Amino acid sequence: MNIDWENLGFEYSPTKSNIRFSYHNGEWSEGKLVNSSNITLSIASNCLHYGQAAFEGLKAFACKDGKVRIFRPEENARRLNDTADYLLMPKFPEDKFVEAVKTVVKDNIDYVPPYGTGGALYIRPVLIGTTSQIGISAAEDYELIILVCPVGPYYKGGIKPVNAMILDDFDRAAPGGTGHVKVAGNYAASLYPTRLARQEGCHVTLFMDAKTHEFIDEFGSSNFVAVTAEGSYVTPKSRSVLPSITNKSLMVLAEDLGLKVERRPIHRSELEEFAEVGAVGTAVVITPVGKIVHKDKVLEYGDTIGPVLKRLYDEMTGIQYGEIPDRHHWMLEV
Ligand SMILES: *Cc1c(COP(=O)(O)O)cnc(C)c1O
Repeated sequence: MNIDWENLGFEYSPTKSNIRFSYHNGEWSEGKLVNSSNITLSIASNCLHYGQAAFEGLKAFACKDGKVRIFRPEENARRLNDTADYLLMPKFPEDKFVEAVKTVVKDNIDYVPPYGTGGALYIRPVLIGTTSQIGISAAEDYELIILVCPVGPYYKGGIKPVNAMILDDFDRAAPGGTGHVKVAGNYAASLYPTRLARQEGCHVTLFMDAKTHEFIDEFGSSNFVAVTAEGSYVTPKSRSVLPSITNKSLMVLAEDLGLKVERRPIHRSELEEFAEVGAVGTAVVITPVGKIVHKDKVLEYGDTIGPVLKRLYDEMTGIQYGEIPDRHHWMLEV
């Protein structure tokens, strides 16, 4: 094992093991640590044809005191079950999920990027329907796999803002659809608009609400947050936004810092007035948005991260790496 910790990206690489659970005849099996990166599936598995698939994403960090800790795994356990519910998949017991995450991190402890490299062990649970069937209905058999891989710091050489694009002809999720749950198919559906945005020099797509296109929903795979001219932390309230655990945590930290936190519908015209804009999620915590492009119009928010988002970023990563006290008890030691 010879990992170049300094040059890790956000990519899959095999590790020592992943943990797997099977669901048959109405019961979850015990977890099994498996070395292989492959699975054997029936060619008629319904996850392949009809997308009965849910996933999650969380991280474990090597902390300053030498211990390894996982950020809020019980939140991911709950959200996975919300997605499972919506897709008619069996729930997975939340305490068992947290234990499984701990077990797989422990077994792959050598793959956790050392403290100081800025990396983390990314943890990816995926839940799939595996019954062979041609008719469209919920599967009877499922597989929950929790894989891990080391990922690097997103910001080698400092935090760099990204450009976002608003596309009038595309939506991420309908108000009565699956935007609020982490369903695999949501992401396949966002590839095409994201490619269009990339062709125009933008890194991400900012989606409006699908019904009126008047209100902001979120980016393709991260929540929208902004800091108003008065210094409030604002984020959209919308049924089709995925409830980000990072955003939920940042709202708590913003309140700790004495900021006003507003979760409410945000009209797109407000984009002209925001002092800072960010995209938030597990992968990067906060990515500052430097520009938002809509047709010929470009709104600019500066070429570095703004002071409020920087403060929140430092606070969050400080807790994750054990540099400041974990006052909300978010970190679970493995
Ligand atoms: C996963 C995800 C996020 C971020 O959620 P976190 O729990 O903070 O990682 C935001 N938006 C979408 C669409 C997502 O899929």
